[in-house]
Amino acid sequence: MAKASKSSKTTKAAPAHYSFFQSVERNFDKAASFTDIKDKGILEQIKACNSIYSMKFPVKIDNKVEVIEAYRVQHSHHKLPVKGGIRFSMDVNQDEVMALAALMTYKCAIVNVPFGGAKGGIKINPKSLSEYDLEKITRRYTAELVKKNFIGPGIDVPAPDYGTGPREMSWIVDTYMSLRPGEIDAAGCVTGKPVTQGGVRGRTEATGLGVYFGVREMCNDADVMKKMNMTVGMADKKVVVQGLGNVGYHAAKYFMEGGASVIALAEYEGAIYNPKGLDVEAVMAFRKKTGSILNFPGAKNLKKSAEALELACDILVPAALENVINGENAPRIKARIVAEAANGPLTPDADEILNKKGTVVIPDMYINAGGVTVSYFEWLKNLSHVRYGRMEKRYSENMNSSILGSIESLTGKKVTAAEKKIILHGPDEVDLVHSGLEDTMIGSYHEIRDVWMKNKKVNDMRSAAFVSAINKVGVSYMELGIFP
Ligand code: GLU
Repeated sequence: MAKASKSSKTTKAAPAHYSFFQSVERNFDKAASFTDIKDKGILEQIKACNSIYSMKFPVKIDNKVEVIEAYRVQHSHHKLPVKGGIRFSMDVNQDEVMALAALMTYKCAIVNVPFGGAKGGIKINPKSLSEYDLEKITRRYTAELVKKNFIGPGIDVPAPDYGTGPREMSWIVDTYMSLRPGEIDAAGCVTGKPVTQGGVRGRTEATGLGVYFGVREMCNDADVMKKMNMTVGMADKKVVVQGLGNVGYHAAKYFMEGGASVIALAEYEGAIYNPKGLDVEAVMAFRKKTGSILNFPGAKNLKKSAEALELACDILVPAALENVINGENAPRIKARIVAEAANGPLTPDADEILNKKGTVVIPDMYINAGGVTVSYFEWLKNLSHVRYGRMEKRYSENMNSSILGSIESLTGKKVTAAEKKIILHGPDEVDLVHSGLEDTMIGSYHEIRDVWMKNKKVNDMRSAAFVSAINKVGVSYMELGIFP
């Protein structure tokens, strides 16, 4: 081997750069050889994006014509409809939407939601546009999707993502219905709608609550906790959450209510830290009042939001955007568990560094799958045209009442009025949605854990999640058969 020259000794090799989609492909390749799918062609087919719709359309803003750049990518048609959110951000580009669509395919497979993966994006800054302009853009985008058959309850079902929420979903369903009049299942063309527009109770908090259920399941896993030299359970776990959007806020809230201590919260204006724990609701109310989380009483300000990622804690929850933990800051991450509430918050370099350090990374495609899980419940509600709990609530309450009555007369003792209220309560829609979500997050944790623990070569949870997902998607493709 040639002797290294002086200069090559001192110049560090530049870290490899991967686009977001290439990172997803890399993680896929790392896991592929451990799957049951031996046919290279099937693996290539699973990996590829099936349809990419890139569009440019004009919208009049302040009497000027603006050309809007937007995308919808359907990653995998092995199951229909395909499913995934729509984001509004100036960072939207084709590669990003492809990567996010691919993650949706694996995510749906992991939580056994019978959809293929998709994603959409509009390159706009929603904060700089009026509500009226946002409505025009959203409606025009929906019309473009209708024109090309890229939306429909059996075709492709969007949902909220970064920069969008129930309001945008409401515009989408209204536009769809006006272009496809009389379609009986039309409400199922999009999820994350307001409840008054066919949405389901429990969708708003679903992703954050799912993050909590998934992390709690790992913290209750005595074997894993022993290996990591951590105590079992949520109590006393120190949590840092980056991003206080819908996902981050709800995750932080449920961690706090579950007995963990949320020691730091980070937003783009900076971060706040209190080793004794922060009251998440009080921080949110403070931010609403002052416009910032900084200077929250009793907490220390961290000027740079990214500093919060490097605090000593048990659980770090990046809940904003991709690539926030990379080769540069990963060596300084002290958390024992990183729960990827955002999609793609770790670059492949960061992943490697953290895995070497023994940090457990709970991958996005599992830990943030609560959103799409409850979207699935919403879609089912739309197809069945009935609210969850409508048929059984009263029946359960009557049944509970007669069981309680029998117990009271047999024992001669009576429960208190408060206890009675809890015992008699029949399930509401939100109870059923939360319970379906909890069951899904627990079940999928154990599916991934089985792969992770049984195969010695699969040494990180992301690869285990990929193995689980690829096996399911692969079987689907093989059973479908390939059109000759
Ligand atoms: N945007 C969410 C995600 O990335 C939800 C997708 C959906 O509900 O279809 O998982």
